[in-house]
Amino acid sequence: MQTIEIQLADEQATVELGLQLAQACERQTTIYLHGDLGAGKTTFSRGFIRALGHQGNVKSPTYTLVEPYELPPWQVYHFDLYRLADPEELEFMGIRDYFSADAICLVEWPEKGHGLLPQPDLELDMRYHGEQRKATLTANNEYGMALVKHLELCR
Ligand code: ADP
Ligand code: MG
Repeated sequence: MQTIEIQLADEQATVELGLQLAQACERQTTIYLHGDLGAGKTTFSRGFIRALGHQGNVKSPTYTLVEPYELPPWQVYHFDLYRLADPEELEFMGIRDYFSADAICLVEWPEKGHGLLPQPDLELDMRYHGEQRKATLTANNEYGMALVKHLELCR
């Protein structure tokens, strides 16, 4: 396991972190996004999803739980499980089908889906740091470590 901390001075830095990570993805990827409301999870996701070619808005799918983006060669699924009342809802959604070979899954509030989500390659923990933000990234496997290495080279 490998952990790094990244200081995010402003919104643009958070967007860029998303962009840099997106550029390093080269296989099925699952990223958990932890942190309080307003910590920057959706801002990060916007940078990430736009980097893969999406041109419109990226809003957190608070009510629908998941927003799909078809961005060849990837299917990107942006989850926001904040309002998930019962993890069983994920079973009804057919959650397993989302984590396919061409899928990149970003999951806000993964705690709410505990036990029903696949293990992440990488976890981001976003925290308030005065007016700014601090991201702690934890790699959970070799691939996650490669993603973290890529970010270090971007610094
Ligand atoms: P979350 O999805 O975690 O609830 P959002 O991304 O929706 O959070 O909102 C984060 C808010 O904080 C936005 O208003 C954004 O402009 C701001 N923000 C994002 N990153 C930073 C940063 N590094 N420093 C200061 N403000 C930030
Ligand atoms: Mg959000």
